[in-house]
Amino acid sequence: MHKRLFTPGPTQVRPEILKELATPQIHHRAPEFSELYADIQSKLQSVLSTKNAVLLYTSSSTGAMESAVTNLVAKRCLNLVNGAFSERWNEITAANGVPCDTFELPWNVAIKPEMVDEQLATGKYDAVTLVYNETSTGLMNPLEGIAEVVANYPDVFLLVDAVSGMAGAPIETDAWGIDFVLAGVQKAFALPAGLAVAAISDRAVERAKIVPSRSYYFNIPLMHESHLKNQTPSTPAIPHMYALNAQLNDMLAEGMDRRFARHAKMAAIVQAWAKKHFDIYPEDGYWSQTLTSIVNTTQIDVPGMIKRLADEYNLRIANGYGNIKNKTFRIAHMGDTQVDEIQGLLKAIESVLGL
Ligand SMILES: *Cc1c(COP(=O)(O)O)cnc(C)c1O
Repeated sequence: MHKRLFTPGPTQVRPEILKELATPQIHHRAPEFSELYADIQSKLQSVLSTKNAVLLYTSSSTGAMESAVTNLVAKRCLNLVNGAFSERWNEITAANGVPCDTFELPWNVAIKPEMVDEQLATGKYDAVTLVYNETSTGLMNPLEGIAEVVANYPDVFLLVDAVSGMAGAPIETDAWGIDFVLAGVQKAFALPAGLAVAAISDRAVERAKIVPSRSYYFNIPLMHESHLKNQTPSTPAIPHMYALNAQLNDMLAEGMDRRFARHAKMAAIVQAWAKKHFDIYPEDGYWSQTLTSIVNTTQIDVPGMIKRLADEYNLRIANGYGNIKNKTFRIAHMGDTQVDEIQGLLKAIESVLGL
């Protein structure tokens, strides 16, 4: 029996979207492919409020994270770290031999614009990485305020991992001046895993051309050159592109503002429930709109609860991440999940825990 996913990626995919994966194959150098590519392109630009190119990666989000730091750092990168995924981005940067430093905070504390300002004022950096929505902790960093600060440093590019935020919370790519913003589609896009998207500014494409290449598969100048022809350098995940196109149609039909409002409403419901029975992991004011990380204040058996929800209700939620496993657990309220489904999940948890 399928376990309905309330996990922060992969998320539940609707059957009508899954069916799109079975669309008969087309050839990726045929005109019908370029039509599909162009169709997707304009819709992704709407979702991301941008005129920038949106590159398609046949990889999970990690590939796009690697692409950003291997192509867009000419001098030195500042990795802002306050969770597992921002820590991983630093590891990716260092593993590729890209000069970098971290600015680290405890995992429950948000990165504030003035902290970024202080770091950039050293003049050491020409790129900064930020995870918008830390899926490991349910913390949303103040992207707009940080982008405002970064904009005061004309040579510094802002690279954003919006993996679990994009399509669930607003991202004004052009208005906020974000040079690179990426997401895998298995989170708030509610699509099967296997594809990532990233909007890239023109000046970032230009810088990528002068940065000595550290990657072939994730080479931005090559990808961008193909992009201009509505193509990809190598064979992309064509079935996923059909699913993405159909999902973008549905997202834009719902309307992005309504979609974001639905996420905010589900977040408020889960947050109120978490406060009533437990506590919320990140500091006040920075709770995620797409998932909630709940502190296990009453020493419940977290793996036991997760197993019973799966066995008895066919519902799957997630344990805490890394070193906050069992000390926290996570409920995703993103993608195509509806308010009544979240309410049903909370009722099931109450019954399992005898609340
Ligand atoms: C899931 C996630 C990733 C890693 O994504 P993959 O698709 O597994 O490569 C990176 N960053 C954030 C914030 C995530 O939520």
